[in-house]
Amino acid sequence: MTDNYEFEEEEFNTRFNGKTILRILAQARPHWKMLAGFLASIITVSVLDAIFTYLSKLIIDEGILAGNTERLYQLVGIYAGLIFLSALGVFIFIALAGGLGERIQYDLRKKMFARLQDLSFSYYDRTPVGWIMSRVTSDSQRIAELVSWGLLDTSWGIFGIGSSVIFMFIINWKLALIVLMIVPILVIVASIFQKYILGEYRKVRKLNSQITGAYNENITGVRVSKALGREKRNLEEFRQLTSPMYQASFRAAWLSALFLPVVQLISAIGIGSIAWYGGWQVSIGDLTIGGIQAFISYVIFMLFPVQEMARVYAEMQRAVASAERVFSLIDSVPDITNKAGASDPGSLRGDVEFEHVCFYYEEDKPVLNDFTLHVKAGETIALVGPTGAGKSTIVNLIARFYEPRQGVIRIAGRDYTDWTLHGIQSRIGIVLQTPHLFSGTIRDNIRYGRLNATDEDVERAAKTAGAHEFIITLEKGYDEQVGEGGVLLSVGQKQLISLARAILADPDIFIMDEATSSVDTLTEALIQKGMERILSGRTSFVIAHRLSTIKRADRILVIEKGRIEEIGSHAELIRQKGHYYRLYTQQFRRELEQEYNPYEGLPVAGD
Ligand code: ADP
Repeated sequence: MTDNYEFEEEEFNTRFNGKTILRILAQARPHWKMLAGFLASIITVSVLDAIFTYLSKLIIDEGILAGNTERLYQLVGIYAGLIFLSALGVFIFIALAGGLGERIQYDLRKKMFARLQDLSFSYYDRTPVGWIMSRVTSDSQRIAELVSWGLLDTSWGIFGIGSSVIFMFIINWKLALIVLMIVPILVIVASIFQKYILGEYRKVRKLNSQITGAYNENITGVRVSKALGREKRNLEEFRQLTSPMYQASFRAAWLSALFLPVVQLISAIGIGSIAWYGGWQVSIGDLTIGGIQAFISYVIFMLFPVQEMARVYAEMQRAVASAERVFSLIDSVPDITNKAGASDPGSLRGDVEFEHVCFYYEEDKPVLNDFTLHVKAGETIALVGPTGAGKSTIVNLIARFYEPRQGVIRIAGRDYTDWTLHGIQSRIGIVLQTPHLFSGTIRDNIRYGRLNATDEDVERAAKTAGAHEFIITLEKGYDEQVGEGGVLLSVGQKQLISLARAILADPDIFIMDEATSSVDTLTEALIQKGMERILSGRTSFVIAHRLSTIKRADRILVIEKGRIEEIGSHAELIRQKGHYYRLYTQQFRRELEQEYNPYEGLPVAGD
């Protein structure tokens, strides 16, 4: 299956890592007051729990058995008073644990978001979006849960058991030693069970994600499957995945069912030993009836935290795997950063030069090799050539989404790495082939070009771009919602809005990837007009698919396999009768016949 599964695999192979656990705990440091309040209340409640059992011993021995009613009332009074204190403590630590988890999750998400904004395109080339989304959502949540509820269960367990043990020693140290032998056995058994149960659940999760993938592929590709008669084969593959998942789920359920009786059996042995040895101690006067009752209560009381701690321990492994991925995202270093001493260019109105530029995305696949180009300020360059030739790469380099591996790109007279990234990118306007719109209104989307623009500025930009005409035909005009990613608009309309956005930003350099998908004639004409306005007086690079744009460019760059095959104006290239001439006569013939004078610009007979 796809990359996503390789990425998912990591979770199942991660080992316990002390450093990561410390780093997880360090997330609570900025909220140390909450943590301190949490620990104080949980210690109070744990000690009170142990005191309650001790009080019940006193009530039996000194109140009931001794027939001392006054003492009985006194003790019951203390018990009731402490119950309120304990309830308050429970309320405080649960509220603080939840709050702490939320804060940590918020911090982690904020850090990840900030990092994701900084990371370069190359990071997004390598990393599937689904992987990033899981880090931001489920992994950060899992870490937060471990810090809040995991910490709660563990500290309640440790302090609860600790105070019980102290009180047991106060009552009868010999019997306390016997109980202490049972606790480690319980811990070991519980841990073993949890380890296996979790292992099975992990298998279920892994298989489940594969099944979801298979579902996804089959649903999205249902037409192809049907057309190729693959249904039977797909069903068989699906069965091969579901069967082990069913078995793993069954084993997990079976182990869970066995776990509780085993724990009960061990504690029954413990209680039996207390009854046997304690009974004898009572007979020789070393232990009271209340004392033996208290011991039994302590053992029963310990069962729950021991089980919980074993579960938390097993969960911790998953949280560590989550944390390692979250931290790897936070620690990712952007490939492109500001050089020390980089300055703001002030303006990018100046020549754009590529000097012996080499570039590759993957080391063994060069895309541009020794690429040299000099574009004068204000020139419009049309880039043409087959798919995969390197046109987008050239404009990506100009926008500094990537930097040359070798050679220099100079803008306005300086190596562009001398300028700050923001200084460059804020002065370059880009309209993509399928422009991205953010959910919100049309007005918001245009204003994205310059956030402090007034409504009048927005409308003026829309008019210049030629977008105004279609916007006012919409029911709510500029306040119409565009839907997520602009789904409610056509590609042509999205391009018009992007043009308006770019015009509002008033960039020094303009880059456009023309839409290849069909746009209706009216929108097409509007886009042409808008483009003309934004191109004039600006250094522009257009990955051109339309003849009209190409002909209007000052120079045409014919790119093939990352090299400039030809460069010149339309008339010059036509005269050369080379690549461009062939492209022109073959690819644009239909366009030519439909809309243009077929003889315009073509070589005169006998030329
Ligand atoms: P064009 O815009 O002319 O269609 P591109 O610049 O998109 O060409 O692509 C040039 C070459 O670089 C192609 O071989 C393409 O497969 C490769 N390429 C483009 N983008 C990436 C990327 N993000 N990661 C790896 N290879 C890429």
